[in-house]
This record gives sequence, structure tokens and C-alpha cells, in this order.
Amino acid sequence: MSVLVVGGAGYIGSHTAQALKRRGYEVVVYDNLSTGHAVLADGLELVVGDISDTAKLSQVLRRVDAVMHFAAFAYVGESVENPRKYFKNNVQDGLTLLNAVVDCKVSKFIFSSTCAVYGIPARVPITEDLPRLPVNPYGASKLAFEFALEAYGRAYDLRFVSFRYFNAAGADETGKIGEIHAPETHLIPSAFEAIGGERGALQIFGDDYPTPDGTCVRDYIHVNDLADAHVLGMEYLENGRSAKLNLGTGRGYSVREVISTIERISGRKVPTQMAPRRPGDPAELVADPSQAEKVLSWKAKYSLDQIVATAWSWAQSRKKTGK
Ligand code: UDP
Repeated sequence: MSVLVVGGAGYIGSHTAQALKRRGYEVVVYDNLSTGHAVLADGLELVVGDISDTAKLSQVLRRVDAVMHFAAFAYVGESVENPRKYFKNNVQDGLTLLNAVVDCKVSKFIFSSTCAVYGIPARVPITEDLPRLPVNPYGASKLAFEFALEAYGRAYDLRFVSFRYFNAAGADETGKIGEIHAPETHLIPSAFEAIGGERGALQIFGDDYPTPDGTCVRDYIHVNDLADAHVLGMEYLENGRSAKLNLGTGRGYSVREVISTIERISGRKVPTQMAPRRPGDPAELVADPSQAEKVLSWKAKYSLDQIVATAWSWAQSRKKTGK
């Protein structure tokens, strides 16, 4: 069984590609390297191409049995400032990929969706049946793709899993792959940069939210827990079913709690500075992961401490190796 991992030279895609390989799948990575890094696909076949390139896609799609689609822009703040970029890549080019998949008669598809499709949830923890009302263009672009998948799944021979990730973080313990973003905007690696003096103080985006300490609460999930869910999702598709599933731990942490965990694990102080709320940020996003647990027999294994510890070792090793 062979899987095309589109966006497999990126952060979550590279961890999933390795997990698939460990499980005995043949893996082909397809990535345009615009935000991905060839080094993250080391040891795997890498086809450099764009998801808007139907001819190139069709060549590789003829060789595979399933597709996992990670190739998207994923910054909430940037999507507010530049929605055009998000709708072009995540929707327009995403649909080019999806059409090529259907035309090449590949019938199994796993999509990287996001908890941002829920917007400001009516209830926390969030269950999959809550209304999807995104409050930023990133979430809207992912929801548009979810809608297309659902329609295609009804009309064509296509089974799919849409995984709604909460906050992906951490790195593989091997130290070979991890998060590389430039510029970095995510909380944990940004805090490391502040510790190392590679940027100014870490800005805390808002402390007037209706949460226990006033800062935003998120459900941080280790990237290898996400990768394992994808492998199980592939097995689920092989049994002929479709699903939309939250991937989170079910436990939320505030920005301040994450910062104090980083300080305890790294033994270093994180220089911080208060800043206004970031547009598009809901106060609290925490998964109810029970559906994924039931359907896939999956459960997140890594704690916040392990997430921070693996991310910290990755950041330290990158500094040494210059990756
Ligand atoms: N955050 C922050 N300062 C930063 C980066 C992030 O206070 O420099 C907050 C952000 O407002 C959110 C949480 O940390 O509440 C996680 O943000 P991140 O960008 O890591 O992930 P997102 O939730 O946007 O996917």
C-alpha cells in the first residue's frame, strides 16, 4: 500500500510520513518546498511539485493508493492580513489536488483540518457536532475544503477523514525532524527564540480573556500523536468508511501555563511582554477527543511536559547543527 504525503516536507507531514514508513507503508512525499524543507523528507522519495500542477500530480497519483494532504498555509494572523493567499492555496489549489485525486481514481484521502473551523465554540470541550462557524480566513479556508470533501465523498468513489487538529507542538524524539518555520509565530518555538535572544521578548497576546488567568487556553497535542492518528485513519479508510474527527488531548493550558512549563523544563526565564489580543483568536479551544478515541482506538500519549521537552531538544539540536 503506498501513500502520497502532500506537504510531507513540512512539520506535521514529515512526522506522519515517518510514522507511515515505520508501519510498512510505501511513502512518496510531494512538496513544493515553499515552507517545507527537503531535510525533513530525508530517507523518503521526494517529488518537488506544486498542488496546482495537475500534470505533475497525475503522474504520482497513478502510483499510489491513498493521499494525505498537509500542504496548506496555517497562520491565523497572516490569514487575516492576507486572505487571498489562504483562499488561493488552501481552497483553489487544494481543489485542483482533490480533482486530480478523483480523476486518477484514488479513493482514500486524509485531510489536515483544524479546530479553527469551529470559530468561537458554543461549548468547550468541543465535540464534532458543534456548528462550524470560523472567525478567521484560515478556518474558513479549511472549512471550504471540508465541505468539498463531504460533497465529493457523497458523489464520487472517495472516502475521507478530516482531522481537526488542535495545537500541534513538540518534535520527534530522534532529533531528526521537528518544527522549522521562518518566521516563527507559534507560541512554544517563539518562546524558545525569546529565551535565546533571537527575538525580543515573547509577546503575550491578550490577558483580558474570560479564562482563569486571562490568557488564551489551547489544547496542545504532540505531533507524533497526530502522526499515529493518521496511520490509524489510513487503516480506517481501508475498511471503507469516512469520518470527521477532533485530534486533541482534551486538556487545555493557558499561555501563561505554557510559559511556566517552558521555564521549568528549560531552566531558563522567558522574557515576556504584554501585547493586545491577536485578531482571530478565540479565548478557549479544547477538544473533546472521545470520538477519535472510539473510532480509531487512538489516544494522545504525550503530556505538555513531553511536548515542551521534545521541542526544546529539537530547538537546541538545530542550533548546533544549523538545520
Ligand atoms: N500566542 C502568544 N504569543 C505568541 C504566539 C502565540 O500569546 O507569540 C498565543 C496565541 O494568542 C494563542 C496561543 O498562544 O492563544 C497559541 O498560538 P499559536 O500561534 O501557537 O497557535 P494557533 O492557536 O494560532 O494555532
